[in-house]
Amino acid sequence: MSKQQIRSSTMVRLICPSCHSSLESFGAGVQCSRCHQVFPVLGSVLCFSQAGRAAWDDNTTHQFGFYDDRYADFAQASGSVFEQDTLVALHVHTFKMAQVDALMSSFQLRKDSRVLEVGCGHGWFLRWLNNRYHAQGIGVDISPAAVNLAAVNDWAGNEYYAAEATQLPFETASFDLVCALDVIEHLTHEQKRNALREMVRVLKPGGNVLLYTLHVDDKYTDFWFKRTWARLRGGERAICERERIAYEEEGGHLRSNFISVQAMQVLAQESGLADVQVLPFHAICTSIYDLYVTQFVIIPIMNLINRAARAWRARNSPVISPQVSPPAPIAPRWKVTFVKVYQPVFAAMMKLFCTMDRPLIARGHFAGMFVVGQKRAQK
Ligand SMILES: [Zn+2]
Repeated sequence: MSKQQIRSSTMVRLICPSCHSSLESFGAGVQCSRCHQVFPVLGSVLCFSQAGRAAWDDNTTHQFGFYDDRYADFAQASGSVFEQDTLVALHVHTFKMAQVDALMSSFQLRKDSRVLEVGCGHGWFLRWLNNRYHAQGIGVDISPAAVNLAAVNDWAGNEYYAAEATQLPFETASFDLVCALDVIEHLTHEQKRNALREMVRVLKPGGNVLLYTLHVDDKYTDFWFKRTWARLRGGERAICERERIAYEEEGGHLRSNFISVQAMQVLAQESGLADVQVLPFHAICTSIYDLYVTQFVIIPIMNLINRAARAWRARNSPVISPQVSPPAPIAPRWKVTFVKVYQPVFAAMMKLFCTMDRPLIARGHFAGMFVVGQKRAQK
């Protein structure tokens, strides 16, 4: 990526995240024309998220510590970026992503729609979105390490910046859709309020918000299953230890940051969203499928076939010179056939599992919630 590309976004106008004034070039980075804050380039991305670091609260410091310092390990643990991409590009393989897909279709994205993902991590969701809806997007994450990984692996023309959810470096009314999946549970309630206000600010009137976040009840999450397992094996002491590790180390999930459906509804409405819907999702059946069946059955099988197919191609095709940037995933014929057979089975399973989850959801026991809303047309 050239320095020119780093300086100017081709999609939206970048502004100072603190005072909203225009930016000027400054060395390899940029500087605010009014408050003179300097935002440097770290790796290959412009970094807005370190500017106020001295004033960060404990929660932000903790989240940054987890996601920035350990990001490379974290990404590696969740499988090679490219293999994940090939899987998500082909079909929706978790119930949660099927639900995201269903909500996404209702937004009627076009090729020129502008999408912002807040808390984009290594960027798999924006690449999925590009593959599925041909929309290009901008990803921001507090972690420069994460967005650098995203930028390096991008084949879709997305842009990435290190920025805080509560202070976005984009001009008002820039985006058609703002997404934040599994992000706002990492923010305190005050930060949630500010982040939502920022998301709505950068939305165009009539634009949509899509969020997924954990429920305060915290049932049927990965950590809940691990805690239950610990209780069965080692009693109360093991649970305490397990809980400490789960919340404080594995993913920066601090339970004090989780939210109820009612509080979420109020927060979304206060931020200026209309037609807010909060949809509980993931009780025991859908969670087990998404967390364990996909992880231990579906993905390993797909990866195995994937690897075999790649090895077969390598043996039977001439040597190709290494490419500069990673190629976009293509769907070979076997995968298209696989999806054709699997998709109706998957749809039937989802219907059944969601029905089985319904009594638990009705009693308030569920893992998380989707939030959708629209920015009011005149504001
Ligand atoms: Zn400024």
